[in-house]
Amino acid sequence: MKPIVIIGAGIAGLQAANVLYEANIPFILIEKQAQVGGRVQSEHFQGFILDHGFQVLQTSYPEVQRSLRLKDLDLSYFDAGAYLWLDHTWTSFYSPWQHTFALFQAFEKGIIHFSDLFKLAKLWLRIQWDATPETNLQLSSWEYIKSLNFSNNFRESFLKPFFQGIFLDNQLSQPASLFLFYLKQFLEGKAAIPKAGMGAISQQLLDVLPPSCVRLGVEVKSLENGKVELSNGEVLDYHKVILAANPTAAATLLDIPLAKGAILQSKTFYFSADKFENEGKLLHLIPQNEESEILHFTCLSKINPHCAPQGKVLMSVTTLKVDISEGEVLREMEKYLCQGKLNWKFLKAFSIPESLPKQGFWKHIKQKAHKKGIILTGDYTQYPSLQAAFASGRLAAESAIS
Ligand SMILES: Cc1cc2nc3c(=O)[nH]c(=O)nc-3n(C[C@H](O)[C@H](O)[C@H](O)COP(=O)(O)OP(=O)(O)OC[C@H]3O[C@@H](n4cnc5c(N)ncnc54)[C@H](O)[C@@H]3O)c2cc1C
Repeated sequence: MKPIVIIGAGIAGLQAANVLYEANIPFILIEKQAQVGGRVQSEHFQGFILDHGFQVLQTSYPEVQRSLRLKDLDLSYFDAGAYLWLDHTWTSFYSPWQHTFALFQAFEKGIIHFSDLFKLAKLWLRIQWDATPETNLQLSSWEYIKSLNFSNNFRESFLKPFFQGIFLDNQLSQPASLFLFYLKQFLEGKAAIPKAGMGAISQQLLDVLPPSCVRLGVEVKSLENGKVELSNGEVLDYHKVILAANPTAAATLLDIPLAKGAILQSKTFYFSADKFENEGKLLHLIPQNEESEILHFTCLSKINPHCAPQGKVLMSVTTLKVDISEGEVLREMEKYLCQGKLNWKFLKAFSIPESLPKQGFWKHIKQKAHKKGIILTGDYTQYPSLQAAFASGRLAAESAIS
């Protein structure tokens, strides 16, 4: 039997390969980079573990629970909440859902009002029966958040920057249904990072697969006339093709122009420091009305001590601009942390022009793939998240088997 060819070894492609392997179906997984993982990779650098872009694993994602051996990832957890920039100081805010003790402090500081809690509780009831990211809620996330009439402080200092960080989008233009889906995950689940970095997730999926079925450092150049043509000149015969490439690459292989604005970019900078004072395993959110280029920053080694060598801490800073330099970032951070010179050493930055796909742009790609008998998978075929990458990978494999 000819193999099923999977193009791309990001989470979706790896997941598809795992499902085919379990079902004893022959496959070849082809990845153009020298390592697997796509957007979920980590690397060792001067004793630090750096993820290719700041991201977290939501342990409440159903497909994550089903597909990963979470215990083996040795997860470290964030506290539920964030540091907020209020009146030119950092104030910790813990989720009232998971830290009831901190609620009085939040009331006292004016971060949240009683009416906000009531509205959140109503919203929580709603998402118990409807938090499907693909339901057809016409409003954008920002329009929906505004329509909920939360107090100004809660909305502007917490909700808005928190979701700007999740969506990597200042405008919060993703559909409101996606906002509800993420809200449910954050209210009910925990955000975590594996001891060995986010790349350990991809590695766990790879480790199960027979090495002879995985080809790294080889790019699929074309998908014409029932053949898969590789960058090394090889031509593969296949039973079926699962196209698990990132959206731009998938569009190129299918010869479809990609609409402008379909993809959101980001850049994560890593710095080493001797210490970081703020307590808590929390993200620091910067309100975008501060005219800041920075979305959020965090002391990652407070959450996962293994990501920094002894005596050092690892700071990550994420921006939406990819043409910003570490010098500019440091100058901004000084404004938020010390009003003087910050003694941080720049380690490395990861520019990710294709960070997250926006919903609503993929109809033509899906139609063209369908016409050519190619099975599409990847986060963009559902919604931007690891849950969708895992779920769509499984779906693609099941459809290839049927
Ligand atoms: C900065 C950042 C932060 C994020 N934060 C979160 C978060 O906190 N929580 C969350 O759930 N999700 C987050 N995400 C999203 C999550 O990482 C993605 O949804 C998921 O990794 C997408 O996986 P994928 O397999 O669909 O695509 P990709 O990871 O893009 O994989 C596609 C693969 O195809 C390969 N490829 C492309 N073309 C070819 C070709 N011609 N031949 C061979 N191989 C090819 C690519 O090299 C790549 O490895 C974040 C993403 C980024 C970038």
